[in-house]
Amino acid sequence: MEDLQLQPTPNVTRRQLLMRGLRCQCPNCGQAKLFKNRLHIHHYCPKCGMRLERGDGYYLGPLCINYGVAVFTFVLPTLLLGFFGYIAIKLALVIAFTGALLLPVLLYSFSWSCWLMIYYICLPDELHANRTEDCDDLSFEEERRTRTKQ
Ligand SMILES: [Zn+2]
Repeated sequence: MEDLQLQPTPNVTRRQLLMRGLRCQCPNCGQAKLFKNRLHIHHYCPKCGMRLERGDGYYLGPLCINYGVAVFTFVLPTLLLGFFGYIAIKLALVIAFTGALLLPVLLYSFSWSCWLMIYYICLPDELHANRTEDCDDLSFEEERRTRTKQ
């Protein structure tokens, strides 16, 4: 495995975070895609080495975004169209069920990117590029040690 060290990069603005999030790029460096393929996120950025997949519980953010978008932009409106008689209720159920199965798969990578974007826009100091040299954040040090062991 290639030995990746966390490289110092210039500070990242919220606008840059927004653009990187919309393009599914690493929020830290913006030079690498977040995903190996459509359904597998890189555990660490292949360019800058920042940890992208943070383990237990971190997937809940993308899950909520994915679920919310699928339900409120597709499933619920489709069911309402069927309920109020604009389309047959059986057809609405079939369309809603199909959308409920397919949309989460199609939106998976984008919801991950949105989650990382929202997280780092709300907490920009958590981003490696925005940390100061004298930062004594223990989780950051632990992550650095973890990277050097692998
Ligand atoms: Zn990166």
